[in-house]
Amino acid sequence: MTLTLSRPGERLPNAADAHAPSFAATLLENGKTLTRSDPQVLQLNLGKLCNLTCVHCHVNAGPGRKEIVRRDTLERIVDWLAANPMPTVDLTGGAPEMAPDFRWLVEQVRALGSHIIDRCNLTILVEPGYEDLGSFLAAHRVEVIASMPCYSPDNVNEQRGDGVFDDSIRGLRLLNSLGYGIRPDLPLHLVYNPNGPNLPPAQDDLEADYKRELRAHFGIEFNNLYTITNLPVARFASWLKRNGHLEDYMKLLVDNFNPAAVDGLMCRDTISVDWQGNVFDCDFNQQMNMHLGAGDNPLKLWDVDLGTWKQIPVRTAAHCYGCTAGCGSSCGGAVV
Ligand code: SF4
Ligand code: SF4
Repeated sequence: MTLTLSRPGERLPNAADAHAPSFAATLLENGKTLTRSDPQVLQLNLGKLCNLTCVHCHVNAGPGRKEIVRRDTLERIVDWLAANPMPTVDLTGGAPEMAPDFRWLVEQVRALGSHIIDRCNLTILVEPGYEDLGSFLAAHRVEVIASMPCYSPDNVNEQRGDGVFDDSIRGLRLLNSLGYGIRPDLPLHLVYNPNGPNLPPAQDDLEADYKRELRAHFGIEFNNLYTITNLPVARFASWLKRNGHLEDYMKLLVDNFNPAAVDGLMCRDTISVDWQGNVFDCDFNQQMNMHLGAGDNPLKLWDVDLGTWKQIPVRTAAHCYGCTAGCGSSCGGAVV
């Protein structure tokens, strides 16, 4: 189904909308406005190709997906970045490292002076053909933010697939052997997301548990743990619906709306770009096709004028309650 939008700011109907009040109205009732600040992060989703097919995936990524960024699109993105320097370029997917021009892009962005984040699923580091990926990331001082939904095998394998826990541990050991999580210039952060229709536990407490368990059982070191709430989008929304949890999950998110989380929402300082160069508020809005263009014409990054960027309203819908529930949720974990 193609969803057609008429103007920025308009809500898009989706499965979650049927079970939640308007997010925009809730902001208003709580005296909050969702305004942009100066962009700090250019987040590039390089496509939907991935070596895994996780239950919670909001991208519907997998090994059979054909949507993958092309070199000519990346060249236009790099040209825009050269003219509009960003402190951080955040690479995501899918498995971003599977994009054929991933390494070319990292080299270009480093040459422009931006800090680079690679959102890594860990298992890609031990896939045949990617044996030197860890060394490449270390050589280019790429920060690694890695998915690790639990410190014990059962939850990880249930959410991500059989054998994923062991491969993740191998990936983490490889990163540690290169200095990741140990050397100050090679940060390694882990990402936890719940294995079901729940909110994440307190980030600091869980980080302490992860550090203790991963060190004791596997000798693994890392810097910080980020807790991220699963948003009711794409594969996770389908899973909720299929298992009869969608209504309860939306109620959980709405009941836990925290106005204090609004100021830390990542859409305030992020420009999110998909594999075709289209611009969005965040990776979740990408999956909802809530682009920032007019009608059927998405705004392209190379047409973004930072002088007027902050005037474009952030587009919200029911899934946004996932970012404001409890301690809040962003690509950098809890926000309050
Ligand atoms: S959650 Fe990440 S690792 Fe899992 S299928 Fe989606 S993109 Fe791949
Ligand atoms: S899903 Fe979250 S980050 Fe995206 S627009 Fe909504 S509140 Fe902002």
